[in-house]
Amino acid sequence: MTSREQRMTRIGFIGLGRMGMPMLRNLVAAGHEVQAYDVAEAARVEAREAGAEIAPSAAETASEVNVLISMVPTGRHVLEIHTGPGGTLARLPDGALLIDCSTIAVAEARALHAAGAERGTPVLDAPVSGGVMGAQAGTLTFMVGGEARDLDRARPIFQAMGRNIFHAGSAGNGQAAKVCNNLLAGISMIAVSEAYTLGQRLGLEPATMREIVSTSTGSCHALVNYPPVPGLLPNVPSSREYRNGFAAELMLKDLRLAEQAAMDTKSSLPLVTLAASLYGLFCGSGSGDLDYSAVIRMIEGAPAVTARP
Ligand code: NAD
Repeated sequence: MTSREQRMTRIGFIGLGRMGMPMLRNLVAAGHEVQAYDVAEAARVEAREAGAEIAPSAAETASEVNVLISMVPTGRHVLEIHTGPGGTLARLPDGALLIDCSTIAVAEARALHAAGAERGTPVLDAPVSGGVMGAQAGTLTFMVGGEARDLDRARPIFQAMGRNIFHAGSAGNGQAAKVCNNLLAGISMIAVSEAYTLGQRLGLEPATMREIVSTSTGSCHALVNYPPVPGLLPNVPSSREYRNGFAAELMLKDLRLAEQAAMDTKSSLPLVTLAASLYGLFCGSGSGDLDYSAVIRMIEGAPAVTARP
């Protein structure tokens, strides 16, 4: 992409939710022309106010663009939008690049790449990490699967929305990196919740435990930077009643993707299964919209186990 093209990229953007809207704002702020669509009218109104043109449908965001980005909830949405009857792939101009940033199954991402290849449309799977705050600040991490030359072409677009851009390998490998990251995040949050709960019941102050373990072999991101105990750090969801974080129901969705990937690869991942069950119970109790670190409430509230005589 030449520097002139970088300034003038015309981008289609589908899915203007918690992540998509701030990503769109950063693309507009970087000087790109964006035509956008969301099924929700309120989102379309907000995107227009943010400086985007609004397309009449998802498929029509593909007209006359150089790059088309989607950021929708699930793989079913992604495949319907792009490959279904009247999907975007039938409309994208020759040479345009399709980038899906949603978190979906590796197999679904590979199906999207295959559908693109059939039409000669290059595809990148580019899920993100960094949450809503990262999307707003333009500091997302992109984990990209696909051809290196397509990533090179898309790099200025990613740089308008993110800070760390990784090539994870061929088709679907962006989603592979994402599912591995999120299974670690989900499982380690449960382990950290168990440690804080037990520590407190043994009379250990959470702040003291955090300080000690942070320089010991149990240290991890959830314990040090994202503690589930309120009041240890000011800017984490636990200190604002678990609001505005990464919803437990999204963590459950990602653990289900890990279970699916385990089945597809004939892998046995018992901790993934257990963690999915625990987040499933937590979400089933009506708390799925809270940040996933709120799972500590379920662990703290679990009934005491009494030894058999
Ligand atoms: P969201 O539900 O806030 O937004 C999704 C948007 O897609 C909604 O506005 C919805 O109306 C729209 N949509 C659904 N179907 C559509 C269609 N057919 N055509 C057009 N628009 C459609 O979800 P989100 O939090 O923005 O997450 C989007 C994706 O990013 C998900 O795959 C999620 O797992 C992933 N993700 C989310 C976070 C986070 O912290 N929220 C972090 C990393 C990754």
